[in-house]
Amino acid sequence: MAIDLPIYLDNAATTRTDPRVVEAMLPYFTETFGNPGSRNHSFGWAAEEAVEHARQQVADLLGADRKEIIFTSGATESNNLAIKGAASMYAKAPAGQSGRGHIITALHEHKAVLDPCKRLQREGFEVTYLQPGKDGLITAKMVQEAMREDTILVTIMWANNELGTINEIPEIGKLCHEKGVVFHTDATQWVGKMPTDVERDHVDLLSMSGHKIYGPKGVGALYVRRRRPRVRLTAIQEGGGQERGFRSGTLNVPGIVGLGKACELCAAEMDDERERLLALRRKLEKSITSRLDTVQVNGHAEKRLPHIANISFGFVEGESLMMATKEIAMSSGSACTSASLEPSYVLKALGIGDDLAHSSLRISMGRFTTEAQVEYAADKIVQAVNKLRVLSPLYDMHNEGIDITKIQWQAH
Ligand SMILES: *Cc1c(COP(=O)(O)O)cnc(C)c1O
Repeated sequence: MAIDLPIYLDNAATTRTDPRVVEAMLPYFTETFGNPGSRNHSFGWAAEEAVEHARQQVADLLGADRKEIIFTSGATESNNLAIKGAASMYAKAPAGQSGRGHIITALHEHKAVLDPCKRLQREGFEVTYLQPGKDGLITAKMVQEAMREDTILVTIMWANNELGTINEIPEIGKLCHEKGVVFHTDATQWVGKMPTDVERDHVDLLSMSGHKIYGPKGVGALYVRRRRPRVRLTAIQEGGGQERGFRSGTLNVPGIVGLGKACELCAAEMDDERERLLALRRKLEKSITSRLDTVQVNGHAEKRLPHIANISFGFVEGESLMMATKEIAMSSGSACTSASLEPSYVLKALGIGDDLAHSSLRISMGRFTTEAQVEYAADKIVQAVNKLRVLSPLYDMHNEGIDITKIQWQAH
């Protein structure tokens, strides 16, 4: 059977919008186009009703109350609002002074968490960046050991976007509640794929994004706990006072309707989808690791999202591997920062060497991925690696039993 190319296996970067989501959104461009802030006519009321319906759909997916959902432009904004907003609200000293409080995060968080933390450091806060285990996990014990008298905020992602590894979120949340410390989690990769209950799991602030869960780009949400304890935030964006003052700006009604619909679909289909994706991921990993030597699947073997595989290939060059598998859309273990090719800081945080990090692939499946696509991709990757290794003198030496880590290279 012929297969359509290219094949999309980069669902951790973004997902195709589900056609059912697009259909739900369309009337809100040209028919129900009012501003939900218009309180004195039916156009406004209809738009407001749609937004409140979507707010309920999002809340239901998280086990939250409708009033606890703030709509934003995506997870980047949600993270900024949660981290900067909480730091500013719970600061122990005024702006411009040092000793404003201590924040705990991790080395392999998304940049949308790390960069706000770095800014806060420049503004008088102290930040601890936890080093994950070799399995990529952040445990409650690690957080506990980093806790101080002046800790005001813990921000640890639910699942990692490069590895799919799942951190000990319920345990970390419980610890934070015992210590009276605000707990934020970037749940962008977790929500919609795995069952979420902010009440049971002691989460105070949770970031999520539409385009990672088959919804539109440019819309997301922040969950802000209202009871036991009530969490307060300083607004980052000021203006018309929408979203109870947390986030001013006219609401993106079609986007919000799409996000709501995407949440409803995830809730309805999650159990089947999780099983299906897990089977696909296992098939992919087995197909590759059973046919190639010197490969490793990165991150904890079990505590991993069903749809993300991160695999390192010894004795191939990352760029060449990407070139040889061009008809498959995947992410590499290198990030293009300016002109240079930097190895992924996430893989580095796990202690994976630069060479292996460069020759790593993140393969992420989704709702529209088929078994035939996964089989094709696995075959293609195996072929490409074999072909590249034929050209590798280091691989020859490795096969002859020479430990290349012990070679004394001639200095010039
Ligand atoms: C994609 C992603 C983000 C950024 O989300 P946007 O909605 O694109 O701003 C943040 N955190 C994680 C873990 C992500 O995967």
